[in-house]
Order: sequence, then C-alpha cells, then structure tokens
Amino acid sequence: MSGLSQIEAERRLEVYGRNEITEEKRRSRLLIFLSQFKSFLIVILIIAAVVSAVVTEEVTDAIIILLIVLFSGVLGYIQEMRAEGAIQALKRMASPKAVVVRDGKEIEIDSTFVVPGDLLLLDTGSKVAADMRLIRAVDLKLDESPLTGESEPVSKVAGDTVFMGTTVLHGRGEGIVTATGMKTEFGKIAGALQAIDDEETPLQHEIDRLGKWLGVLTIIVCAVVASVGLLRGAPPVEIFVLGIALAVAAVPEALPAVITIALALGLRRMASRNALVRRLLSVETLGSTSVICTDKTGTLTEGEMTVRKIYLKGRMIEVTGVGYTPEGEILLYEDEKLNHDLELLLMAGSLCNNAHLRKEEDGWKIVGDSTEGALLVLAEKGGFTKDLLDEKCERIDEIPFSSERKMMTTVNRCENGVYAFSKGACEVILSCCRLSESEKEEVLKNAASMAGDALRVLAFSYKSVKVDDSNLESDMVFLGLVGMIDPPREGVKKAIARCREAGIKTLMITGDNPITATAIAREIGMQDKGEIVTGAMLDLMGEDELERIAEDVTVYARVSPFHKLKVIDALKARGHIVAMTGDGVNDAPALKKADIGISMGITGTDVAKEASDIILMDDNFSSIVAAVEEGRTIFRNIRNFFTYGLSCHIGEILLVLFAFLFFEDLVSVKGFPLPAVQILWINLLTDGIPPIALSTERPGYNIMREPPRRKEEGIFTRRVLFYGIVIGLLVAIQGSFIFHLADPEKAQTMVFTTIVISEMFNVFNWRSDKESIFKLGFLTNKPLILAVSSTILLQLIVIYLPFLQGAFHTVGLDPGDWVLMILVGLSTLVVVEWMKFVEKTRLTHT
Ligand code: ATP
Repeated sequence: MSGLSQIEAERRLEVYGRNEITEEKRRSRLLIFLSQFKSFLIVILIIAAVVSAVVTEEVTDAIIILLIVLFSGVLGYIQEMRAEGAIQALKRMASPKAVVVRDGKEIEIDSTFVVPGDLLLLDTGSKVAADMRLIRAVDLKLDESPLTGESEPVSKVAGDTVFMGTTVLHGRGEGIVTATGMKTEFGKIAGALQAIDDEETPLQHEIDRLGKWLGVLTIIVCAVVASVGLLRGAPPVEIFVLGIALAVAAVPEALPAVITIALALGLRRMASRNALVRRLLSVETLGSTSVICTDKTGTLTEGEMTVRKIYLKGRMIEVTGVGYTPEGEILLYEDEKLNHDLELLLMAGSLCNNAHLRKEEDGWKIVGDSTEGALLVLAEKGGFTKDLLDEKCERIDEIPFSSERKMMTTVNRCENGVYAFSKGACEVILSCCRLSESEKEEVLKNAASMAGDALRVLAFSYKSVKVDDSNLESDMVFLGLVGMIDPPREGVKKAIARCREAGIKTLMITGDNPITATAIAREIGMQDKGEIVTGAMLDLMGEDELERIAEDVTVYARVSPFHKLKVIDALKARGHIVAMTGDGVNDAPALKKADIGISMGITGTDVAKEASDIILMDDNFSSIVAAVEEGRTIFRNIRNFFTYGLSCHIGEILLVLFAFLFFEDLVSVKGFPLPAVQILWINLLTDGIPPIALSTERPGYNIMREPPRRKEEGIFTRRVLFYGIVIGLLVAIQGSFIFHLADPEKAQTMVFTTIVISEMFNVFNWRSDKESIFKLGFLTNKPLILAVSSTILLQLIVIYLPFLQGAFHTVGLDPGDWVLMILVGLSTLVVVEWMKFVEKTRLTHT
C-alpha cells in the first residue's frame, strides 16, 4: 500500500488540524506579573514607603522605592517568562515521532503531523500516535493501561482498533488512522500528555528551603540592625524603611526564577550537544553520576555494520566493500560446491529480515535495524534483492526478535515448499540445530575466532516445515555464520578516558557475545583489569556476590534487559549514582530504576524514551559524557552565583550595622551611608542580570578532573558560607573606609558607588570558584561584560543626571574620587584571587 500522498496529507492537516492533545491553560501573563509582588516583605515595603512619605512629607524616596519595586517586578516577570518559554521549547524538542507511509515510502514524521487516513506503522516499543484500524498485525500485543488502567497486554489482530497513547509491547502492525488529536479516545478522556515533567527538583527544594531559612535569618538580622539604630537614636520611620529595604534586598526571592533559567539554559546547551533532558531533576543528578552503564551496539560503536566474513561448511570466506553501499564481492574463489549453501544463507539473511535498503540522494540508507541492514547489503552483493525475494517467497508467519530470545524466525512459502528461516546469536541458533557435539564445537571455535577480531557474529539456520507447524525452532539445519564489523565511534576512546579522569566508572552492558564485547572494550580503552560477567553467570549469582564484585566488572555480555536491574541494584548498594542506557521496550524498568535513565534517540523505542530522563539524539556515548560535563557545570554555576549573591547581601547588612555601631558621629554629618533607595538600587543591579550571565559560564578546564559530587552535597556548603562572610566583611570594610575618608557631601554617593564597583569586581570572582580570573580571561563571558557595562552605565546615570541626584541622594564625582573607589573596589578581586591561590597550593601540597 502506498499510503496518502504528501500533498493530500498536507491538505488534511489543514482540515483536521494537528494531532495534538491541547494542554491545559497555562497561568495567564497578568497573574505571573502580579505574583511578583505577592511577597510579604514587598507589601510591607510598599506600605512603609507610603507611611514614611506621609509622616516625613518627603515623597521622592517613596516614589523611587515604588519605581524600583515595580521595575524589579518587571524583571522578575521577564525572568519567569523566559524560564517558562525555555521549558516549553524543550518540551517541543522531545515530541514523539511516528512512522507513516506516504507516496509509497516509509517516513518518520513528528507525530503531530499524522492525519486521518495515514497508513501508520507500528513496531515493538512504539507508542501509538493516533487512533487507527489495523489492516495487518504480526503477533501484536499492546499495553492499553493509559486508557483502561488494565496492565495485562492485549492482543490485536487485523480489523481491530488500536488507540492513541497505548504502546506496542510485542510484534508489529500497520493500520489506517481513523482519528487524531482531541478526536481520539485518549484526547476525549486525557488531560495533558506531558513530555517533560514539571516536578520540583531537589535543587529547587533546597533553594526554597534555603530561601525561607535565609529569609527568616535576614529579617531577624535586619530587625537587630534596625533596633541597634533605634537604640542609638536614629529616626524611627527612616529606620523602619531602611530595615525593610535591607530585608527586601537580602531575601533571595529572585533565586528560584534565576535557577530555573540557569537550568533551562544548561538544558539548551546539553541539547546542542545531543542530550535532550526530559526532567529538570536529572540535570543535578547527572553532575553526581559515578557510573555510566552503556550498551555497546550503536552507542560505543558506529552501529553501521558491514559483513566481513562468512563461515560456511568449514570455510572462512572474505567479503569486500564498505558501509551500506551494495558494492563488493563475496570471495568464494569459484568454489561451486558451496554456491548452493551460500545462496541459502543469503536468502535466510534477506527473508528473515525486517529492514529495508534504500538509495537516497546522499547514498544508501537502511530503514530498520542495522544488523539486519548489513545482511541485506550482503545479500545484494550475492545477487539477491529483498523485494524480489519477498515476492517469490511470501512471508506467512514470524516469531519476532527480542533481546531475551536473541533470535528471529520467519516462515516463507517458496516455489518448492514452505520453509522456516532463523537467525540469531550463535549459541542460540546452535541449540536449535541438528548437529553433533564435535560439529557444534567446530562452529563455536570459528565464531570465537571471528569475535576475537571484534566482529559481531550471527548464525543462520533453516528447515522445511508445514503451514501452521508449531515446532519451528528445533531440529533445524545449520547454515553458517556471518561476521560483521561495527567499528568504535570516533571520540569514544577519548570520552572514556575523560570519564576515568572525572572519577566516573564506565561499563558495558551488551546483548552481544563476551568475546566481541571484550575485543571492543579493549579497543576503546575501557578494560584495564576489569572482569567479564555473562548473563548466565548473573543468573547464578546471589545479590551479595554481585555486590561484592560489582566494582571490578567492566563488561556484562550476553545479558537480557532484566539483568540490568540486578546490576543497577548492586551498584546502588555500593553507593553509586548510576546512569544506564537502553533502547528496547524491556529496558524501560531499568531506565526507570537507574538514577539517570538514558534512551537512544535514533534506535530507541518510544517506551524507552518515555521511561528515560535523557534522550541521546545521536545515540552516541560521547554525548552522555558531554551531558555529565554540562550537568556538573550547571550545578557549579548555580552555586557560584548563589555565593556571589550571598556575599553581596552580607556586605550590605554589615555595612549598615557598622554605620550604627561605629559611625554615629559621622552619620550626623555625612548622612546615612546606604539609604533605602540605594540599597534597593544595588539589589536591582546585582541580583537580576549578573547571575544569569554567570549561568552561561562554560564548563571549566577542571570540571572533569574532579571526582563526582556527593549526592547529598547541596548548594550551601561550609566553603560557600566562608567565602560569603569573608567577602561580605570585606565589602563592609570598603564601604566604611570610604565613608570615613570622603568629603561630607560626597560620602553617600561614594559609598554607594564603591559597593557597586566592588560587586562588579566580585561578579568576576564567581565565574569560577577555583580558577583564577586571569586564567579564564576577563573578556571571555560576553553576557557578563554586557551586564557589567550596563550596570556601570546605569550607575553613572544615577550619579550624574541632575533630576536623579535628588532621588538617589547622589552628587557628581571627580576623577580622583573614581580612582580611589576603583582601587578600593578592586581589593575584592585581589583578596578572592589570593584565597583561590592559597586553597589551590594547599590542595596540591596535601
Ligand atoms: P547492545 O546490547 O550493546 O545493543 P546487541 O545489539 O548485541 O548489543 P541485543 O539487541 O540484545 O544486543 O542482541 C543480542 C544478540 O541477538 C546479538 O548479539 C545478536 O547475536 C542477536 N541479534 C541482534 N539483532 C538481531 C536480529 N535482528 N535478529 C536476530 N538476531 C539478532
């Protein structure tokens, strides 16, 4: 069947609309904007400003305070909208795909473009994209639990309807789409089908908790500071406004939105490095991953296979050619005795096969499994085209391949009778064949020799059967072996070495045989002293035993998906944070169980993708390592801008406290060092944009040279507190120093500006918590340069524009004043540079 034409499909898309379940209405923009002002402190601040205006009959301060609050609100709103937008964009990227036939060609499309009338194909593991009526079904079993809640698999045959949102657990099928989008049964009953969960991550939890905790602490501290002021006889209303402004400035209310932006920006970077994160949660876990368990085929290796050798009746035959181009020869050297056997083997490879070989503009392509693709190419080299063969030998039955069975069988009606053809793992096929022990040994010896050269080995068998024969896979005739190369992917060796440096253990979990697996592991530098454990050994092993040896195993071979659960358990019991890859339906439980489940974007089934935290868009192992690196970076950046903010706030609070305690006399002459409007202004400048600029910081040179972060280690550590207090103290001393030194009329302006300058130097400190800024280079973070220059520009405006001078208690300054302020502010950079240096030398000495 040729399906709809592309033109007709487009027309129908216009008529019926996209195949989407419309999400519930999101929060309205107005609500998001208003929610910026719902904080208790902000409300109090607004009231305090108004009260002070009434009592003191001085309205400028109140107006400026209100404007700053409004402006902060707008900034908060923009931040939240951006965060929301970024998450929506990620959701769209993770949208599911569907395979349809259009103009006679199988193509994969975004499932939102499926239209009624489309010929839709289903394969094991795929999620049904729309309601459809089956026209063909091979052993088709579906999981309809999303619709019915019933978890038992349901068998379906031609004529049945299958529903959107259900998944194929077994077999294959094709059918005509009857309804899409909200017209489907699923659309009628279901709410939002979310590609990305909006659940709160531990990090966000921690920030919430920390925010509240810091909030209460700040309010207490501010209250104490204000009381000290009152005891010293400062005017009560002003102190009240000051205290509230200080609290508003110091409470990290912008933090959650900024963190969401930081996470979303990080996710975008990960996506550009081919790792699509489906749960925000996983970003943090990624940073603490200590073991990566990965498949071999297609992840560590190219997955583009080429048959190199055929073992036939005791002879090893070479095959030439590269890739999927069906050009090359089977070097039989005119051994005509073997011709018949070779033909049978090639036929088995081509008939017992669900892939397609297609010539496209940019070369030959495989649709379907790459192992099967390689067999089609081999058959072509021997003169057999699948389409013609399929016509001559019609398929009447199939027992599909699964990772548990490790073999596949089809029944075909050929001109001279009905035959079963099987292919699969060597030992599995041998167990289905009539061979003497010595013959089996001979075959196994040859299979091992191929595997030793890192070839992937597949065995073939056949037998003559009756229609409806139930005994297909026994007493078969052994045909031969095929060995295909599947070279390691470029960059994998380097990625494995980087993992080692980063204290991350990598191990291979493959369905392939132990010899091939070991040969590949050795080639990519994975195995140094590691042990090899097979699925059969795992079956015999108790939990304790596995747990005991888990640290030493690098290769698990000939395993089935359920073995992965056992491995995860053992590693978790050893305290590891486990990332696990998977692609098939049966991998879903393991993907869920692992701390980080990683599914394959290209070869992965929808079921696996849905169970996973991360989708690898290029199926490449190196992308996992890139994601870990980004995960570590995101966490580091968040901690850095948190420390930055903390040190700024501690500085402001201490400065106010110092003024009350030590500068009573000066205050009466020079005015208060940081009036409320200035505090709010500093808060606006330092809290909004610089943290976002810091969150764009690239992974540092050393980020993959440190051991994984312990899972329980949060943002707020003793080191963070130490740096926060030291820098805060420094900023307060700088302010006090300038206050002491400056002329009375300039004092407020100079303290104010010194704090801003100091914090602008401080922001450079927090581009990295360990590296010197001179090593990173001052100009390498463009957004930060932009943020800092615009902050300085705004500060200049506030100082020099006459009508703002009154509002902000400022006056114009001389070049000499600037030199002094910059020199004092610079000490923030110098001191932190020195602290980093001391820490580093101490580390290298211990
Ligand atoms: P990995 O687990 O690293 O992806 P794999 O592809 O070898 O490796 P499985 O897909 O579980 O893992 O396959 C297990 C074994 O089954 C293979 O080693 C191969 O011998 C056999 N096999 C793979 N694909 C097919 C197929 N399409 N038909 C028949 N047998 C197959």
